Amino acid sequence: MFENTEEGGPVNCSFCGKSQDQVMKIVAGPGVYICNECVDLCKEIIDEEFREQMSSEPLLVLKPQAIMNKLNNYVIGQDQSKKTLSVAVYNHYKRVNHMLEVEADDNDETELQKSNICLVGPTGSGKTYLAQSLAKILNVPFAIADATTLTEAGYVGEDVENILLKLLQSADYDVAKAEKGIIYIDEIDKIAKKSENVSITRDVSGEGVQQALLKILEGTVASVPPQGGRKHPQQELIQIDTKNILFIVGGAFAGIETMVKNRLGDKTIGFGADSGTESIDEENSVMQQIIPEDLLKFGLIPEFVGRLPIMTALEELKEDDLVRILTEPKNALVKQYTKLVELDGVTLEFEPEALSRVAELAIKRDTGARGLRSIIEETMRDVMFDIPSQEDIERVIITKATVDQTEGSLIKKGNTKAAS
Ligand code: ADP
Repeated sequence: MFENTEEGGPVNCSFCGKSQDQVMKIVAGPGVYICNECVDLCKEIIDEEFREQMSSEPLLVLKPQAIMNKLNNYVIGQDQSKKTLSVAVYNHYKRVNHMLEVEADDNDETELQKSNICLVGPTGSGKTYLAQSLAKILNVPFAIADATTLTEAGYVGEDVENILLKLLQSADYDVAKAEKGIIYIDEIDKIAKKSENVSITRDVSGEGVQQALLKILEGTVASVPPQGGRKHPQQELIQIDTKNILFIVGGAFAGIETMVKNRLGDKTIGFGADSGTESIDEENSVMQQIIPEDLLKFGLIPEFVGRLPIMTALEELKEDDLVRILTEPKNALVKQYTKLVELDGVTLEFEPEALSRVAELAIKRDTGARGLRSIIEETMRDVMFDIPSQEDIERVIITKATVDQTEGSLIKKGNTKAAS
């Protein structure tokens, strides 16, 4: 400890020895002094230790049914996929907790292998949303990456590691927490190499990206530059072990249905009629029978497919599903707009025909539930423009014609009802 002078004289921090004029503040205790810098340092040390303690504690794992029930609050339809994912995620975190125990107990040799997940389904069917909702329910860090932006190993190797950096950022740079997170990799079908049935136009380099991803999927200790990229060669790398990170990959795999059908041969159930809904039903039913081997035909390499033992197909959403998505989930678009308009003291109503029309338009645009937001936004633009400046409006009703933009919304002012 540093010697301090007699009462009244200049004092030094008892920890670092700095004098009063070298720091902002020195706090005195009985016979000791501490400067603001040492207080900060102590806080950091305590926080770090506390965080490490928290992060190495086993996660509270919800049972599959509880996970499914919570998913139902967010994700409409896709029951088969929700069930498969609930079980897969439960098993994954049970395994993670077991591995943490094994690490503590050197005698236990049972090593449970990680099972990553592959989601196959059209755009806007909820693949990303499912993965995101799972992370939210389990309260683990989450990151989204796009496979098409990744580059081959050895070429610009950092790119794959950048996915881990995103997860680390989502975990507030808490490595132990990130190591138990979930990563969703979108557009995985775009890194397939050219396959038997697909024309030669596809980029052959996809195979290199698969190789690069393989390592982090199976579990490796990766070195992650905390700033991303290679601009800061001197920066200290952060080591992240990916063995407990759950990877969920997803893609539309356009054309894979034919491969599944061919494999099934005569076993496919024929629906005969080719009216819109029935052909969607037929497609959905074929896709439910997808297995990892179908991905091989599509051009994913066997080692990569081997790391994705759990597979599920999301169904193409139908009009009814889209109407439910508009109205039912906790953060449903209709609920959000109703709330927003309510803040101006106005009641907002959507006629059922208006909702069906929105769903119909989204199906036409072929973007699944993704298209709903822009259609609702276009529909609501005039209403949102008018309401704030017209104080006598009590109620606004959105009709099918409002959605089609052939008429305005129905506006009720006191007892009168008029088209805007
Ligand atoms: P994908 O990844 O399959 O292309 P997304 O998960 O990105 O589709 O879906 C886009 C948005 O549409 C989501 O953010 C969510 O708001 C909504 N959405 C999609 N599918 C569903 C669903 N099954 N239930 C509720 N909302 C959904």
